[in-house]
Amino acid sequence: MGIIKQDGYDYAFNSDACASCNGRCCVGDSGYIWVNEDEISTFVKFLNIKREEFVLKYLRKINSCYTLKEIRYKNGYACIFFNEKVMGCGVYEIRPNQCRTFPFWDYFKDHKKELESECIGILSL
Ligand code: SF4
Ligand code: SF4
Repeated sequence: MGIIKQDGYDYAFNSDACASCNGRCCVGDSGYIWVNEDEISTFVKFLNIKREEFVLKYLRKINSCYTLKEIRYKNGYACIFFNEKVMGCGVYEIRPNQCRTFPFWDYFKDHKKELESECIGILSL
């Protein structure tokens, strides 16, 4: 896909960098990967399992919201859908919106340094 820019952000993203990155945005420190009801339905359909099974196996409930579970990985954590064989997302086609919109999150507008230390595809404009 190449260089992606988005209005309101003072950086661009080189999506070609993902090929040599080993999925750094899916591993490392523990974090939240929020999924909404529509996304849960998409996962259920994609994995062809019952909703209850999906919730039990793959989700963690935080108050009234759900986040994908993490597993221990190296010195930190990995999203439960991180695929070590390809060093990337194991459910790429149906990854949640939070993952699709990375690295263009409002939060990073004021935390560019943090983003640059995590993602090798960030280019300052
Ligand atoms: S950290 Fe950045 S370069 Fe690496 S896989 Fe994620 S989006 Fe791609
Ligand atoms: S769903 Fe895929 S892209 Fe999102 S954090 Fe998990 S492994 Fe990464």
